[in-house]
Amino acid sequence: MKKYDFLVVGGGAAGFFAALNCAEHRPGLSVAIYEATPRVLSKVKISGGGRCNVTHYCFDPRQLIRHYPRGSKELLGPFHKFGPQQTIDWFKAHGVELKVEADGRMFPTTDSSQTVVDCLQGAVQKNGIELRLKALVETIEKIDDEFIVTLKGGEQVAAKTLMLATGSASFGWNVVKKLGHKLIEANPSLFTFEIDHPLLKGLPGVSFPMASAELRSTTASFVQEGPLLITHWGLSGPAVLRLSAFGARQLAECNYQAELFVNFEGRLKSDDLYEILMRCKDQDAKKKISSVNPLQGPRRFWEAILEFCGFSPNKLWADATKKELMKLSELVTCFPFQIIGKGVFKEEFVTAGGIARSEIDFRSFQSKLIPGLYMAGEVIDVDGITGGFNFQNAWTGGYLAGISAAETLRP
Ligand SMILES: Cc1cc2nc3c(=O)[nH]c(=O)nc-3n(C[C@H](O)[C@H](O)[C@H](O)COP(=O)(O)OP(=O)(O)OC[C@H]3O[C@@H](n4cnc5c(N)ncnc54)[C@H](O)[C@@H]3O)c2cc1C
Repeated sequence: MKKYDFLVVGGGAAGFFAALNCAEHRPGLSVAIYEATPRVLSKVKISGGGRCNVTHYCFDPRQLIRHYPRGSKELLGPFHKFGPQQTIDWFKAHGVELKVEADGRMFPTTDSSQTVVDCLQGAVQKNGIELRLKALVETIEKIDDEFIVTLKGGEQVAAKTLMLATGSASFGWNVVKKLGHKLIEANPSLFTFEIDHPLLKGLPGVSFPMASAELRSTTASFVQEGPLLITHWGLSGPAVLRLSAFGARQLAECNYQAELFVNFEGRLKSDDLYEILMRCKDQDAKKKISSVNPLQGPRRFWEAILEFCGFSPNKLWADATKKELMKLSELVTCFPFQIIGKGVFKEEFVTAGGIARSEIDFRSFQSKLIPGLYMAGEVIDVDGITGGFNFQNAWTGGYLAGISAAETLRP
């Protein structure tokens, strides 16, 4: 039976990073990656709209963990050891320069995910790591001090230490369940909200630089701020994607039917907007209401919300009643929508849920139940919001697991 020092199950970001860092830390170890499909790093390839958002420009671990709806507490220590700075340095040392965009997302300077794929695959080859494709692992057992791994078809191999980096693939969960680890139910995260509302009908493409949105489900409520985008199907943009992540479980529980209250003017309160509107009424009395947009939001939105509130296009500020302006202020700053379903966000997608965090030692990403078994990336119950945080979780866990495995294999 073939025997490895460190066998990684799953050829994605976390698996590659673990194998590479193990092999680089202790050259000479026999390290292998077994991948079920005919292709490795397929998510890296399609990530970030084909550009791969590798990490985020955020170097304070206490700030960084705030971007993880699940796992923030547990990631604080690991991020002190291997965070975005170490990721930037690692890729630079391996020939990939990263650049930062205005919103903090970091991409390869080539703007191509292929650069990252080539880098990782090249390093695997250089370090003599065995890469086996179409190798679907069906069961893993620990017998005495060894892991016995059975592939589809019946072939068996052995390993002294083993890494589970099977992501969110269903054939990965099956292996985990048989190992006896507790699984937290998997739900999608990072999606847009499907909303059918007359206000949004004529406004696809309209965006707001800083809105605030509150999600209310039957069990919890969440508030997020940030850019907001109206789409053909409802609402998208960073504020919505963050809400979808923080409310992933609650939204799944209520089958993606929930109330959403949007403040299109960010933090502006209804009373303050009312004062602004009353000033317009004084100063622009003879002008049409539709021609003077006092909002930060675009004119198209101003016209649409006036129409929704029943203002005729030619109505003058002088003719607007206090009651009408009060109602308008209330709706702009707290517009009630009904979410009727989950939409898609093509640039990034992640699964909330996975192996229970309480069963993982986050100093080394090692199982607390089975010594020598490591796990990192999307297979564990950790996920981040959009912006490079999910790959950072994979790099951090992969690095610490790989180094720990290399250390435990020290003669
Ligand atoms: C469209 C899209 C875009 C994204 N863009 C970004 C982005 O720009 N930035 C970001 O931070 N995150 C992004 N993400 C999220 C990110 O891709 C994931 O969080 C990350 O890839 C997780 O890495 P992983 O190694 O844990 O799992 P995966 O990349 O899913 O790799 C797991 C691998 O294990 C294999 N496997 C599973 N079970 C078995 C088995 N039993 N035997 C053998 N092999 C097995 C699978 O085939 C797979 O290749 C994106 C995700 C998607 C879907």
